[in-house]
Amino acid sequence: MKNKYDILVIGGGPAGAIAAKTAAEKGLSACIVEKRPAIGVPVRCAEGIGREALHEFIDPDPRWISAEMTGASIIAPDGFLMKLESALAGNKVGYILDRKFFDRELVWKAAEAGADVFVKTRASSPLMEDGYVKGAKVECCGKVTKVTADVVIAADGVESKFSRWCGIDTTVAMREIMSSAQYVLADVDIDEHSTVFYLGNEIAPEGYLWVFPKGKRIANVGIGISGKKSGEGHRAKDYLDRFVKKTFPKGKQIEYIAGGVSVCRPLECTVADGLIIAGDAARVVDPLTGGGIYNGMYTGRLAAEVAAECLAKGDVSKKALMKYDKTWRASKMGKVIERNYHIKEYLIKQPDEKLNEIIHSVSKLNLKEFTTMSLIKEIMKVNPRLMLELGALAASIH
Ligand SMILES: Cc1cc2nc3c(=O)[nH]c(=O)nc-3n(C[C@H](O)[C@H](O)[C@H](O)COP(=O)(O)OP(=O)(O)OC[C@H]3O[C@@H](n4cnc5c(N)ncnc54)[C@H](O)[C@@H]3O)c2cc1C
Repeated sequence: MKNKYDILVIGGGPAGAIAAKTAAEKGLSACIVEKRPAIGVPVRCAEGIGREALHEFIDPDPRWISAEMTGASIIAPDGFLMKLESALAGNKVGYILDRKFFDRELVWKAAEAGADVFVKTRASSPLMEDGYVKGAKVECCGKVTKVTADVVIAADGVESKFSRWCGIDTTVAMREIMSSAQYVLADVDIDEHSTVFYLGNEIAPEGYLWVFPKGKRIANVGIGISGKKSGEGHRAKDYLDRFVKKTFPKGKQIEYIAGGVSVCRPLECTVADGLIIAGDAARVVDPLTGGGIYNGMYTGRLAAEVAAECLAKGDVSKKALMKYDKTWRASKMGKVIERNYHIKEYLIKQPDEKLNEIIHSVSKLNLKEFTTMSLIKEIMKVNPRLMLELGALAASIH
């Protein structure tokens, strides 16, 4: 490990890998430090990603695609099934990744582009100089090294501490952390090309339960519930176990992992002098779906692009790096986060009867495309009352 890099990236997830790859491709010296001993494990993720979202960054490879999806089903609290067939959902709406290998592939691409990568290497504190972040102290096997850098990209995930150490408030309210549990279940009866989402306050309070196929008779079956609904006897795992017992009584658990996803608004500001925050660390997960792989890659790439630009101009002040913050907020991704935050806030307050009503009415529609936006528009058409209830959101959609 060198003592000085142009860009130091904290975290080897999708955000960090793409940040380091982009930086290296721009001719900068870049280094990823990852605290875990291996990239990509444990997998705290349902591993779903939209087709176009993936293609924007990398061509799919059978080595890390578990399954291709051509449809989706939503199960209402009363058990009613709304099927979005491939004709509606579009051919190959998305993929279920194998993140053990996907994350490694992204980091490998960063290394191939010239970035250094160190696993089992934890950033333990920032190096500060005149209010600027100037690198980090990193620890590997008991050895502490000071690594200086012109820009640090904090891509240290949902449990991110680095930006907090730099003085940024990264607190997430308990109610806005989804407490999650997931199994990989083998020997289960599933449609191997369709994702299934279960809604309802009994099944997954203020969240949802998913069944994402990972091949023939194998699926990632998991749940996210609001942190504030979690407690003794009714934790995410309790809800999941009840569901699995009823729905897949013969399923064999071959993996169990618990984790958290933030479904809050993004950080108020995602830059500081010498610092850019990307991915889950910046709280840019989609608050409605809990999806953050694409948003991580998008912000990781943008972080490195802006850092490179600012470095070329010799100014890595917060003011100069603000281009990153402004750009992602104005992007489609930023707008979707803001819109979906409102939708999520609306939906989590609805009783099961209302969720049933919405899903039943939408199922009668002839949706030509399946996007959150088209779905919301149609929901509003059939439920004019919703327009009033959703207020500003409705105005922004029409
Ligand atoms: C149960 C669950 C299901 C999900 N399902 C989906 C889904 O289906 N689709 C989707 O798009 N998203 C999903 N997500 C979200 C998705 O996993 C994240 O949004 C995505 O991994 C974000 O990438 P990232 O690079 O920002 O963070 P991460 O992938 O979390 O990577 C951050 C890395 O930083 C490392 N790190 C942390 N601190 C330090 C430190 N001090 N020093 C060095 N390294 C450090 C961590 O070890 C980690 O490897 C899910 C999340 C959960 C918990």
